[in-house]
Amino acid sequence: TLAALGFDLDDDGFFDDEDDELLPVVAVVGRPNVGKSTLVNRIIGRREAVVEDVPGVTRDRVTYKAEWSGHRFLLVDTGGWEREAKGMAAQVAAQAERAMNEADAVMFVLDATVGATDADEDVVKVLRGTKKPVLLIANKVDDSRGEADAAMLWSLGLGEPQAVSSLQGRGMGDMLDNLIAILPDEGSRVAEPRGPRRIALLGKPNVGKSSLLNQLAGEQRVVVDSVAGTTVDPVDELVEIAGTTWRFVDTAGIRKRVHEASGHEYYASLRTKAALDKAEVAVVLLEADQPMAEQDTRILSMVVESGRALVLAFNKWDLMDDERRKYLEREIERDLHQVSWAPRVNISARTGRHTDKLVPALHKALEGWETRVPTSRLNAFLATLVQSHPHPVRGGKQPRILFGTQATTKPPTFVLFTTGFLEAGYRRFIERRLREEFGFDGTPVRVNLRVRE
Ligand code: GDP
Ligand code: GDP
Repeated sequence: TLAALGFDLDDDGFFDDEDDELLPVVAVVGRPNVGKSTLVNRIIGRREAVVEDVPGVTRDRVTYKAEWSGHRFLLVDTGGWEREAKGMAAQVAAQAERAMNEADAVMFVLDATVGATDADEDVVKVLRGTKKPVLLIANKVDDSRGEADAAMLWSLGLGEPQAVSSLQGRGMGDMLDNLIAILPDEGSRVAEPRGPRRIALLGKPNVGKSSLLNQLAGEQRVVVDSVAGTTVDPVDELVEIAGTTWRFVDTAGIRKRVHEASGHEYYASLRTKAALDKAEVAVVLLEADQPMAEQDTRILSMVVESGRALVLAFNKWDLMDDERRKYLEREIERDLHQVSWAPRVNISARTGRHTDKLVPALHKALEGWETRVPTSRLNAFLATLVQSHPHPVRGGKQPRILFGTQATTKPPTFVLFTTGFLEAGYRRFIERRLREEFGFDGTPVRVNLRVRE
């Protein structure tokens, strides 16, 4: 949902109407004072209370419903950085990046009377890489003499500058026509499927997937056809566990493998990938009584790569003895370090032992997966971290972190704006500390860099 994407919906109470979630989303980005608020107010046709810019406090985004010639869309005013803060340019660029990830189109606003500043250039770099449509707004063109200023902005390589005056309304009609033209149709935004959370049950043949599904589902299973009407294969099953319904995706694959236990590896991994695509969280079953196999590692790597939440289930616990248990601990340390953050449950699909621990683990993993760290908190954390553990000096240089932002959730993905490349060890250190501080149990965490030359 939009809320999960970080739009602050509850506060402005905007999404009572279910349809709103399907409206295309337009993010308005640009540095302070170019006229973003004035533009937004002009488009929505009312004067909103001015939001105070308290230094050090980030004003979070505000979403408005807008309409132009019968087309409805959501306008997200992405205000909110510390006005005089150092690294402001990086902040604006970070914000453009975040907006870009979450919106269907971006309105990038510049002050035509000033032209493109360094901060604007940073945003341009971010926007050039996107496949999302961008509308370049040359604001403050109050009369025809300003048209030449606007035309200068062709050089940014973002297409035709839309010369407007947000203050006076000049050029608004044409600009909005062009905006509507680049927007996806209302309702074409892919709605997050509501309802049951989606689980992929994964693991090598014979690890106990269908046994576990049977154990969890008992008689309470509902098979969901792949596409209503054109069913070839029943693919998903709704299973109620302790009062909550979960959707197990691609269970046809699980059931089939009972008969094709030695099925071809290549198809097995295609199936795993397809299930991961549909799922939000993966339960990877491992055989507690057997050493980890290469196939287990491969499946785990696929989960990490897919960015899904993860719960590890050591199955066949009824076959464990003390000797084996000793080895298992060692194996976990050696073979599972890449997923050391995943909650683990020790179960027996045969006896039903501890299968009730699975649901709390799933909730925990999904919670980590959807966690969003507010930008102000993240930067306070980074400042402390960098002060106590600065990046080592390399070749006389010491890269600095200027600013960070969490670009997305599902999985949590951070973007750090830096003055140089951070070495791998330092990035792992940052990830580790992020986990300690904000608790991302059960989810991969990504840390990306934007290095300023
Ligand atoms: P924001 O920080 O980007 O949201 O910018 P604001 O909307 O607060 O506008 C900054 C200043 O520019 C205000 O004084 C506005 O009145 C002024 N401004 C905004 N749009 C225009 C315009 O089209 N023409 C002129 N002359 N001034 C404008
Ligand atoms: P799948 O190929 O992953 O779906 O695995 P199955 O559910 O078909 O299980 C493969 C074999 O392992 C079957 O003979 C099961 O009875 C057995 N099995 C599954 N779970 C357990 C368990 O927890 N303990 C024991 N002892 N055997 C199990």
